[in-house]
Amino acid sequence: MSAEKIILAGWMMDGTGAPAREKILVRIGRGVFEEIRPFSDGAVNPSELLDLSEYTLLPALVDAHVHLSMSGTVDQNIRKRQLDDDFETAKKCISRHLAQLLAHGVSAVRDGGDRNGYALRYKKDTMDEPRAPISLRVAGKAWHKPGRYGSFVGRALLKGRLADGIYRETEHIDHVKIIQSGLNSLTHFGKESLPQFQTNELKEAVAAAAALGLRTMAHANGKLPVRIALLAGCSSIEHGFFMGEENLALMAEMGIFWVPTACAMKACGACADEIGGERRVAIKNLEHQLEQMALARRLGVSLAVGTDAGSIGVHHGSAVVDELQLFLEAGFSIEEAIKCASLNGANLLGLERKGRIQKGWRADFIVVKGSPSSLPDSLNNNIRIHADGRFL
Ligand SMILES: [Zn+2]
Repeated sequence: MSAEKIILAGWMMDGTGAPAREKILVRIGRGVFEEIRPFSDGAVNPSELLDLSEYTLLPALVDAHVHLSMSGTVDQNIRKRQLDDDFETAKKCISRHLAQLLAHGVSAVRDGGDRNGYALRYKKDTMDEPRAPISLRVAGKAWHKPGRYGSFVGRALLKGRLADGIYRETEHIDHVKIIQSGLNSLTHFGKESLPQFQTNELKEAVAAAAALGLRTMAHANGKLPVRIALLAGCSSIEHGFFMGEENLALMAEMGIFWVPTACAMKACGACADEIGGERRVAIKNLEHQLEQMALARRLGVSLAVGTDAGSIGVHHGSAVVDELQLFLEAGFSIEEAIKCASLNGANLLGLERKGRIQKGWRADFIVVKGSPSSLPDSLNNNIRIHADGRFL
């Protein structure tokens, strides 16, 4: 653990959504924030001070929805190959993605599953979690119904009930990922798919996960699939396109997180031709999602920034910047958007004393050039990240 540091921050955002503050003194020792107060000249010996008066400090970010073993390439041959790679190849790919995430200020990710369970294996075999600069939370393989969407990110439940499957195959996972609907149509605006699991089966599954100390992450689009996932008590709704106002209100009431992954739909619009979709429909889907995000903000839903990086056109690391930009377009202030990418994400991942610049909390933070008005773009350029008591 490094020695004490005293920093003069030009601006600081604490991750709670409170307005950014100017000229703040931040003292760090033993890897935690020890003091945060307005800076006054003469109070600190200049030789002891790390002068970051041209920079903004904010908590290190969380991407609450990634697929680490896949890249965001739009080349379908490479995508196909990545699904069938051996572990040694996948390992290099995952390491590269983690480096890209760190380079954009992300120090924690939640993986939404892959066909071979490689992100899980990577964490188990290669990471020394408490000392690693990035915290990884993994689902292993997601669950889906036979014949329904989900084989890219998991396996089908071939026999018995979902709860039995969860009890059977839990080794080393951090959360359970369930695919509860299909994908969004890129040819018919707002077309909903049927739920994969009915309320009772999903309730039992969530209870099984909870009995094992695990939260449940539900891929769900459309009114009915989302409704069932909420009533079953899933911890978060992933995507949630076309879920509607009633579901949003219920989420706010139940304290269930929403990870809207809007940038993944934006990416679908950009490469609609390659994937047999219509650009026009993707753009309408995205606009509808931004309206839902604005409504969720007003209703007090807890949103977390998650990108679905690894899906087509969605690149690890830079996608976080794109998603933050879409939060701003939906009407969030930059402070509120950063809260969704820090404190909310840390809460959703169950990371203790992370995601906020607060006395006694872990000093995991990033430094970006310029004032908060340069965000989120400034996350693309030479950020510095501080974790485990040191600048990486
Ligand atoms: Zn996903």
